[in-house]
Amino acid sequence: MEKSDNRKEKVIPGDELAVIEEYESGKGTHIIDGQIRASIFGKTKFDNKNKSVEVESLENSSVLPQAGDKVEGRLENDKALRIIKINGKISFGSLVGLMAKTKMPNWGTNDYIRASVVSLTNGLIHVMIKNNNEDEGVIRSTCNSCGDRVVKVQKGVKCVSCGYFKYKTLASDFQE
Ligand SMILES: [Zn+2]
Repeated sequence: MEKSDNRKEKVIPGDELAVIEEYESGKGTHIIDGQIRASIFGKTKFDNKNKSVEVESLENSSVLPQAGDKVEGRLENDKALRIIKINGKISFGSLVGLMAKTKMPNWGTNDYIRASVVSLTNGLIHVMIKNNNEDEGVIRSTCNSCGDRVVKVQKGVKCVSCGYFKYKTLASDFQE
């Protein structure tokens, strides 16, 4: 059996990894009918020396963003950004970015935004919406007044229900 060529790197629970004649079942795996299967979502690690296979949880191997990376997430308050994506990939790390102070922040907790990581000073992820980057700013939003759907208007968003206007820095791919 030519197993080695079609080994999956990323697996979901139940995926077949190897047979027990070839490998030992390691962390994150279990055996059904002589087959080693993944128990968790994650990345496979085949140890060819010790002939064992394990699945490493993606949640534990979450990577910190670096300066210059793009992060997306929802604002928990005017300073804390709950990071959901790093460079377009889902982050499982429960990371929080610290929004740089601006004179007039025009985003809030009802906004899903994209921003740049500016530094990792003092172990904090400092993020900032750079106005000269078209893809940064608010991607999705709701009305600040009544919570209903908003549409893009000049320099901001307007509520389809109550007409409330709010100035916002919108990303070029803002979704109505
Ligand atoms: Zn409204």
